[in-house]
Formats: sequence, C-alpha cells, structure tokens
Amino acid sequence: MSIKFYLSEWFYNMGIVGFLRILKFNNVDESKYTTKENYFEIEDELLDNFAEYYFNYFFAINDDRERFKRRINEATGLIENYDKPSESFDQKASAENISKAIKNVYDYFKKYENSVKNTSYVDEYNDLLNSIKEMNRIIKKDTSIETLEEAKSILNNLLDFVSIEEIRKKRAANITRSNLSDFFGQASFLNPSFAGAYAQDFIEKMHRDYVQPVREKYNQDASKKYKSKTIYNCSLCSRETSGNYHFDEAMFSPIGLSLTENNNFLWNEVTKLPICEECRILLMCTPVGCTPLEKYRSTIDGIEYYTEYTFVNLDTDIKSLFKINENFRQRSSSSNPYRELIFDIVTQMEQKALWTLQSIFFVEFQTDKKSTYLHYFNIAPFKAKFFIDKQVHYLLGRIKPHQFQMDIMEYILTDRDLYLLISDELRNYLKKAEGKRGDRRVIVGDPVSCFNAVCLRHLLNGYKRRQKKVSTKIINDAFEYGKELNRYYVATDSANKINSIGYKMLNAVKVGDKEEFLDNLIRTCMSIQKPIPDFFLNVLTEQRADFKDIALAFICGFTALPVDVASKEKVSNEEV
Ligand SMILES: [Zn+2]
Repeated sequence: MSIKFYLSEWFYNMGIVGFLRILKFNNVDESKYTTKENYFEIEDELLDNFAEYYFNYFFAINDDRERFKRRINEATGLIENYDKPSESFDQKASAENISKAIKNVYDYFKKYENSVKNTSYVDEYNDLLNSIKEMNRIIKKDTSIETLEEAKSILNNLLDFVSIEEIRKKRAANITRSNLSDFFGQASFLNPSFAGAYAQDFIEKMHRDYVQPVREKYNQDASKKYKSKTIYNCSLCSRETSGNYHFDEAMFSPIGLSLTENNNFLWNEVTKLPICEECRILLMCTPVGCTPLEKYRSTIDGIEYYTEYTFVNLDTDIKSLFKINENFRQRSSSSNPYRELIFDIVTQMEQKALWTLQSIFFVEFQTDKKSTYLHYFNIAPFKAKFFIDKQVHYLLGRIKPHQFQMDIMEYILTDRDLYLLISDELRNYLKKAEGKRGDRRVIVGDPVSCFNAVCLRHLLNGYKRRQKKVSTKIINDAFEYGKELNRYYVATDSANKINSIGYKMLNAVKVGDKEEFLDNLIRTCMSIQKPIPDFFLNVLTEQRADFKDIALAFICGFTALPVDVASKEKVSNEEV
C-alpha cells in the first residue's frame, strides 16, 4: 500500500519537506518513495523503521560531544602550556585560567545530569562530577606537576564518559526534546511524565504513538474497517479516519496555538478538527522541514537571542519545493540567506525565475511557551520583475558594508521605504567624515553604496508603476554632477564646506522641501560659477524620477571622498 501526501497549506508542505529530508538523511532506498509534481508518496512498509530514521536524524544534528570536547581541549591545552613561555601573550596559561576552564567543563558536564538519570551510569557520573569539582578546588592552590597530570586524566575520563554511545544519544534525545517542544507542546515523548531512560525508549515511544496507528489502519481488512464507528474525514487531507485524533497544539503548535486563541479562524469556527493517522506523522516532520535562524534583538535588559524558523513555500511542484528549502538551509549560516536565495533563483532562466519568484512565499515564525509569532511575505509580480533585472543584481552586490546590504534586502522584501535606510547611512557617514576631509588615508562610510541603493529605490519604484524598462540615467547624471562639484570644492581648498552643505540638503529632503534643496543647490553652484543642469527641474515635476532619488543621488556624489569615487565601478551604460 502506498500513502500520498499532496501539496497543501504551508505547514503541510513543511512536513513534506521534513519527511523527505529524514529519508534522504538515512539513505532510504529510493524505490520506497517518490515525489510527483503535486504529491509525495511512500510505501507504508517504510514506516516500520520511521521512528528510527526520525531519531537518527535528530541524534546526529544534536550530538553534543563535539561541543563538550572543545571545552575539554581548552582546559587540557592550558594545562599543557602552563609555565611554558608562550608566543602569544594573551594565551599565557595561569592557574586562574586553568581553574576557569575547568569550571567551564564542570558546568557543561552538569548539563548531562538529566541524560544520565534512570540509567545504569548514575554512580559513575556522580563520581566524575565530584572529582572534577574537587579538582577545580585543588588546582587553585596547587599546580604541581602531579596535580596537573591528575587534572588531565580526569578530563580524559569525562570525555570518555560523554562518548559512551548511549549517553551521547540520550543527551541528543534530550536536546531534541527541548527543541521539539517549540513545535509540539507536550506530545508523546515530549511529555515530562515520559521518563525514557535510553535513546531506544524514544524511538519505541514514537513508534507506538505515531507509526502503529497507521500500520494498524493499513493492516485492517478493508471490509472491517471502522465497522462499528462513524467515519470522519481528515481536516487536512480529507482522507478517511477513525476520528481518534484532533488537530491541536500538540500536533503543530505554531498553528495549533493560534487555533485555540482565535477560535479556528482557518476552519470556520469548528471546535474539533479530525486529523488522520498519516497526517499526524507528517506533522511530526515539520521541524525538519524549516530552517532555524539565530537572531537577536535589543531589549531594555540588553541583547536577547532567539530562534526564528523560516520556511520557503512554493506550490509549483515537490522537487522545486524541496530544492529551494535545501538551498535556503545551506545558506542559513550566511548573513542574508534571503538575498542569496533570491539571487540563486534570479540566475536561473529568466522566465522560470519569474515564475518561481511570483509563487514563492516565505513564512517566519517564533514560538515560546505561550504564543507564536507568525510572519508571512511573498514577492509581488512587480518585485519579481525588479529582481530579474540584471542591474539590480549588479547594484545589490556592490553595497557595503554587509549589514547595510542585508538591511536593504530586508526593506525591499518587506515593502519598507529604502529612503529611510539611505538617509540614515548618509547621515552617519557625514558624522564620521567630519573633520577628516582631505585625509585620504581615512575611508569612512560609503556614499557610493548609498548611491547604489538610491538606484535600487528608483528601479523598484519604476517597476511598481508598471514601467516595462526602468532607466537610471537621470540618477546617474545627478550623481556625476555631485562628483564634479565635489572635485571642484576639493581643488579649491573648500572641502571643509562639503559636510555642512550635505547636511543642509539631507534635511531639506527629509522634510520634503524641494525649494530648500534647490536653493542650496543653486547657491552651491553659483559660489563656484557652475551652471545648473536642466535635469534638476525634475525635482519639481518629478516626471523622470522621484525628488528624493535625484536629491540623494546628488548628495551621494557630492559628499563621497575622491577615494570612494575612484573605486566606484560605473553601472553599465546599456540601461540608458
Ligand atoms: Zn490527513
């Protein structure tokens, strides 16, 4: 018998991606499952080992031994270098440093307490814990060769202990348990009352709770199936089901929680949503389908770290859905996986890229014990056209520093006005450049990057207004003219005036005062007897470009240090 899972809502698709990842991770024979355009199909016998596949995956990604080993190595390294003349001053080992490193090991070893509980290793663990604690006390006073040797041997024993296959797996199981509770509340093996002693217990528990109900369903004689019972239909896939299970936060809390809180806005106020045995397993794979991103935000108490999960939904076909999420995950350690992912798509064949971008849909969510924050965004058709424009690719790649570039992508994807970012960046630049003009060795900030961002803003707005081809000629002209005036100011030893003029102009743009901006421009030109090019009249009419774009482009050119300008590679002229 085979079981099919069709592309559906985003979290369902996330389950499909997760399921596939688990199978691929375990090198499961590919004849046992297939991906068709709109569904994913498995042979039911594949489920016999599914719980094992599931935990194999998590035991591998949550293996804590390497992290522990790094702490051990740090401590043994310090011990070995003790009293030896060290090349690097900072790394000079001292008794205090050794004691700190040992304390670190002790703290980390304590985290294993839960993973040892109820196993036959309890006594051994407690002995080791005591010996490392005792060693930390002794070494503060006594750093004789004998003590140092003993410390090393205790550290080695600890490493041996956490390398015991069962301890290693149990620890991984516990980390997994804590991660998964973000998704499933206290379901099955996540319930605190489940005191699984060994990793195998987790596998068996999952098998019993999730796999067996499906196996039983398929082993039943079709004629006897649900004979005495009402038949329900799964609210996710419409498959027939016994009605034993309902969709709730234990199935998938990011959605389940909002169900309890929002009275089932998804399914018209129905209080109980039947769910089939097959979909229960699929939903267990959702954490594997998404990509965790470590993020931080500043709060009153300082910086707070949190995990945000991202899923890239695509309803074209399963292969593309899987591929795009693999791609996203591979880039998750980069500082801007979104930008890189979109570039990847953009470099595909133009027409295909356009389709993909138009059907892509990002879901970001965070969960804590009480609530879920969901955030969705997709790429509007005009934005898809914008992204496949070659100039955009070029300009985005030439924005520094990385954080600025990342913010720009984020603003574009979330429909915020780039102007805010650009003017802030320019202001910061002017602040830092204060008093440093003329000193060629000091390169601070980068108005050229700001100018590239202005071009992006101009292109984006053009596509938004449904223009087929957007030209940046006028923006380039304004920038070039700014550079020309800048050179003149520098040549006539008036470079010190550049900043204050730049500030004035930025302020005029900020309050949207076109006349004030032009007034400043006219005076600047007059003081050095330069004409004002006609295209600046567009500031008033805004026919060829937005006032902000022309003004910012000019300010970027005018305030850039000659060094910056020289390093700018000109955008190709084809676009003109
Ligand atoms: Zn179902």
